[in-house]
Amino acid sequence: MTPQSEFDNQRERMIGDQIKGRGIHDVRVLAALRAVPRHRFVPERLQNLAYEDGPLPIGNNQTISQPYIVALMTQMLELRPGDSVLEIGTGSGYQTAVLCEIAKQVYTLERHSALANRANALLDDLGYTNVEVYTGDGSQGLPDMAPFDAIIVTAAAPAIPGPLRAQMANGGRMVLPTGERHQQLLQRVRRSGDAWQVESTIPVMFVPLYGQHGFTPSDAG
Ligand code: SAM
Repeated sequence: MTPQSEFDNQRERMIGDQIKGRGIHDVRVLAALRAVPRHRFVPERLQNLAYEDGPLPIGNNQTISQPYIVALMTQMLELRPGDSVLEIGTGSGYQTAVLCEIAKQVYTLERHSALANRANALLDDLGYTNVEVYTGDGSQGLPDMAPFDAIIVTAAAPAIPGPLRAQMANGGRMVLPTGERHQQLLQRVRRSGDAWQVESTIPVMFVPLYGQHGFTPSDAG
């Protein structure tokens, strides 16, 4: 078993080389990545790879995203401590924990109940009290809890889901990958009253967002 201090060292190296080294500068994001024990969010047999520069399998054909992508998407959300955040695609719960470190309240939705239940138990075990985990089709958002200051979608959508746009607060930000099944662009949407401004950034490759406003299993391949 790897000692705790070795994980701490690996995490510091990850932040220096992969995160700061690639231009992530938001101090809240850096502090959050430092605080969250990423190795707890991966299967035990892969814990020695938890701080490597890539995604890892977490079961149910899903992945925990590369640390740099988690950091970049979080920075793009421009979070403030009072924010209410919606996350679509809980997966392992790692990105959720990073959001919980910065925002006031986090709502997260996962379509696989096994993943949602596991993430919920782990977030609870780590002492996060500002999170609610739901099972369901996140492409429809969470209208009962809207509006949200920030929305993050950690699965690829064919286009910006209408319900998520509608659930953004005035001044809100949404970060999501949109595009084809095997190649997407990371986009940031800003809402100002009844106007939504869309900014495209880097190419990325995420697992599909399924559901009413996502891919259907047949077109997702
Ligand atoms: N953020 C996660 C983490 O830190 O481990 C990684 C998320 S993984 C790349 C994408 C997740 O989106 C998967 O767990 C998948 O089951 C979920 N997903 C796909 N379509 C969904 C939908 N319509 N609603 C909710 N979750 C969905």
